[in-house]
Amino acid sequence: MKKAFLYIWGKLMVLFRKIDYKPIHVTRFPTDFEIFDKTIYIIGHPGFPKWAVMQCPCGCKVPLTLSLMKHKKPNWECNIKNQKATLSPSVWKTDGCKSHFFLRNGKVIWA
Ligand SMILES: [Zn+2]
Repeated sequence: MKKAFLYIWGKLMVLFRKIDYKPIHVTRFPTDFEIFDKTIYIIGHPGFPKWAVMQCPCGCKVPLTLSLMKHKKPNWECNIKNQKATLSPSVWKTDGCKSHFFLRNGKVIWA
């Protein structure tokens, strides 16, 4: 019951763009995601980010793994300013929920 409430609440918050994604630098892949974890994990060593991992903002609970390595295709650029992440280009899931969104200054903007 509590989880269901958190799920709906989280979804509303994302819809109204109340929650910003916060970047956290880590050296390993996160092993557990909270429901509506609003964290974008930047994985790699300082100055050498390899992956960005975030939970899909639609609420499907699927972690999205984005390559920040230029030699891997597709790859993304992740700029962090004032503890807010911007990803480019947009993230488009081609399977499952088919979410397509931009992450700009920590905010999800649906395409
Ligand atoms: Zn999704």
